[in-house]
Amino acid sequence: MSDDIWKEALEQFNKAAKVLKLDKSIVEILTNPKRIIHVSIPVRMDNGKIKVFQGFRVQFNDLRGPTKGGIRYHPNVSHEEVKALAFWMTWKNTVVDVPFGGGKGGVICNPKELSEGELERLSRGYIEAMHKFIGPEKDIPAPDVYTNPQVMAWMMDEYHRIEGHNVFGVITGKPLELGGSEGRDKATAQGGVYILEEALDTFKVKNASIAIQGFGNAGRTAAKLLSEKDYKIVAVSDSKTAIHNPKGLDIEKVIAHKQKTGSVKGFKEVKEITNENLLILDVDVLIPAALEGVITKDNVNKIKAKVILELANGPVSAEARATLYKKGQISIPDILANSGGVAVSYFEWVQNNIGYFWSEEEVLKKLKDKMCSAFDNVYSASKEFKVDFGTAAYIYAVRRMIKVLELRGYIKKGD
Ligand code: GLU
Repeated sequence: MSDDIWKEALEQFNKAAKVLKLDKSIVEILTNPKRIIHVSIPVRMDNGKIKVFQGFRVQFNDLRGPTKGGIRYHPNVSHEEVKALAFWMTWKNTVVDVPFGGGKGGVICNPKELSEGELERLSRGYIEAMHKFIGPEKDIPAPDVYTNPQVMAWMMDEYHRIEGHNVFGVITGKPLELGGSEGRDKATAQGGVYILEEALDTFKVKNASIAIQGFGNAGRTAAKLLSEKDYKIVAVSDSKTAIHNPKGLDIEKVIAHKQKTGSVKGFKEVKEITNENLLILDVDVLIPAALEGVITKDNVNKIKAKVILELANGPVSAEARATLYKKGQISIPDILANSGGVAVSYFEWVQNNIGYFWSEEEVLKKLKDKMCSAFDNVYSASKEFKVDFGTAAYIYAVRRMIKVLELRGYIKKGD
């Protein structure tokens, strides 16, 4: 998938470009990244030797504000993947209406094989290499796959060391003690839950049964929030296996088991199935919350869920979204479904800038308002243009971006 990911990102955009009959020059402006930074990061490993890691940051588009997006640590990170993810951030930030452009970072590494000290030195090394290019008004990183508040704290501290003073707004997703925001750690999942409830209400799905693929921050927290609201979660999975019980899983116990053993594997009174089979279960709602490229033309016809909530980035291809739409199923695209994370990152940045912090209640109320209006805007575009939610989200975002291009003088009205 990784090699094709940029092609896939372009395909999603091009569907909307076609509907809007976009001029070639606009397509060119919007599909070329402003800046790609590729660095080598020498890290002293615990055995005393230096190992060199490859790090990336793509600042795709800063026309609506400083670039913003997470940093991913994963063995499969590539410059193409980071470019696609930065492109997606551009549209996500527009759909959820935060004043940011799109950026993303990544390091090729397997954090599961690094000691805590190695992870800290790698994270500091990344900032040492990138510090000239980031800042609260330039580019603001955050967590993504396999990075977390502790990694953000090391990164912020390294920026502090280089600059000689605290700059809390340089990074979001920080721990609460270091300028983080209430609600940020559950924001991606919580935002997804707000969107899901809007969709279930709109499409009149009652007593939904749910399967969740992926048990990282987003998937695990979504499972927890949904089970607290009495939804029946019948299956969850991690990278090792998937577990299924049609009567419903006790999510608190699954989380405790995962914390103790490192996997959902071995959990009692369930059937173990593959991740592929979890995707095709007969459920009302499917939440892909792991990595990209899990629902494509190869398996889309086997998908039974009425609603698919794309909590991961890029889990459903443009072609699969269109097929699902034709079959009367709805796939809520990543750039809407998982935008709660960056929405609360925005709130964190605002709180850092004004130096005054809000309660969790205030943050969640603001988050809910943002998610619900983003849902309404995408749903309206879907009805207006009679297209799937994915294409509708791009149409909505691209139209907003065109206004910015006009105001900045890149294009003339009507181009
Ligand atoms: N990594 C998250 C995402 O893909 C959050 C980005 C952010 O908060 O800047 O949306």
